[in-house]
Amino acid sequence: MAVQQKQRLGIMGGTFDPIHYGHLVTAEAARHRFNLDKVIFVPSGHPPHKQERKLTLPDERLMMTLLATVANENFVVSDWEVRRPQISYTFDTMQAFHQQYGDEAELFFITGADAVLEIMQWRKIEELVDFCSFIAATRPGYRLDNFSLPPKLAAKLYFMEVPALAISSSDIRRRVQSGEPVKYLLPETVEMYIAKHGLYRDGE
Ligand code: ATP
Ligand code: MG
Repeated sequence: MAVQQKQRLGIMGGTFDPIHYGHLVTAEAARHRFNLDKVIFVPSGHPPHKQERKLTLPDERLMMTLLATVANENFVVSDWEVRRPQISYTFDTMQAFHQQYGDEAELFFITGADAVLEIMQWRKIEELVDFCSFIAATRPGYRLDNFSLPPKLAAKLYFMEVPALAISSSDIRRRVQSGEPVKYLLPETVEMYIAKHGLYRDGE
């Protein structure tokens, strides 16, 4: 009897306000390097840490994420966080995927190294690493010195270098507001969506 291999799933959470090539390059690099079967993009509904500015509507961020990922057959989008009325912590989301897939899948949460530096403060991190590994994207040559973790966490954390780290959603929003070009920083479909819906023109 053939032994069925576990699915390897990458989960990429974010506000995606808007999604850009930094996110997409990172997801694709993680897929290739860690042999993931697919990467699931999960736009946030009510992020706990970004309440200082008004976020673009969840459905608009979801739509931009769909537009950006449609051309990659290994990328899918989940509306799980967007549909939930309450705040979703990474723990809640990963637990939901864990419950959905059970032991048939191995879960990898993909994140920028900036977020990993705060990993110790994440909600229920000790429990989270019981069923999830972390892939942290860093700039080429960038070293996370003075970064020590308990062995249980360190064993579940992998670093990966990606080339497109200078792109950020906040810089793209600032550019739209000041009339600077955003072309080649994000997919053309997303650029068109932003223009068509007048997003980011009034600043944050
Ligand atoms: P903002 O500028 O508003 O903080 P952002 O560009 O960081 O937005 P988020 O939606 O906050 O985008 O990020 C989602 C995830 O993608 C986070 O884990 C973040 O660390 C990671 N990320 C963001 N930009 C990049 C990038 N250029 N390269 C790799 N990872 C990135
Ligand atoms: Mg960010």
